[in-house]
Amino acid sequence: MRARLEAAVLARTSRVREPLARLARDALDLLLPQRCPSCGVPAAADRALCEPCLAAIVRVDRALCAQCLLEEREPHGCRRHTGAAVHAAWLFDARAQAFIHALKYGARPVLAAGHGGALAAALPARARRADLVLAMPHHAARLRERGVDASAALAEALARALPAPHLRGALVRVRATPPQAGRREHERRAAMTGAFEMREPSAVQGRRVLLVDDVVTTGATFAAALGALRAAGAEARGVALAWAP
Ligand SMILES: [Zn+2]
Ligand SMILES: [Zn+2]
Repeated sequence: MRARLEAAVLARTSRVREPLARLARDALDLLLPQRCPSCGVPAAADRALCEPCLAAIVRVDRALCAQCLLEEREPHGCRRHTGAAVHAAWLFDARAQAFIHALKYGARPVLAAGHGGALAAALPARARRADLVLAMPHHAARLRERGVDASAALAEALARALPAPHLRGALVRVRATPPQAGRREHERRAAMTGAFEMREPSAVQGRRVLLVDDVVTTGATFAAALGALRAAGAEARGVALAWAP
């Protein structure tokens, strides 16, 4: 029912500007009850998952190291790779997967809004004092495939929760990269080399930057993007909604 109505609204508003489409979706949110994408019971509009599903997701309580993940070493407690720390809020499971799928393909970035606090809570206290929040940039072709830029929606949610400014467009993805899962370390590293470019290095130089993505898996994407930020003089760390080991 909801999906059909949404499709109808999106079809009608596809010729008008995005803000109108968003208004129409927000109106639908008020009219129709939200359902938890994991178990189907009614759930809060800005969180998607119901309270029991949300509470059942295991929290990740230690920082990961993107470089150690990439090298298939123990990702916790690393002291060798400065500037490669990634803080994940959730351990990826079927509930986290259902939420991320709803966020990306449900065309409702508002779903990210209720999780800014969870992203902030994944950070140690000193890391919450950030100067800037950036979203992990994704290649334009990939974004067109799915509609909602999940990392940008989550970055906006974290920026509001901290609060800190959300800086857009400073870090860009200059080429699409193939999926990283199942590849060997040197292949993943090679695939990411040169994938990111700083458009405004001066905007991040000397600043404490938090780089947000929805999921951290092999660490290759975070390792490359954090490297680009570090090269521009930023003190950067990653934040992900979920870690999929
Ligand atoms: Zn549920
Ligand atoms: Zn490490």
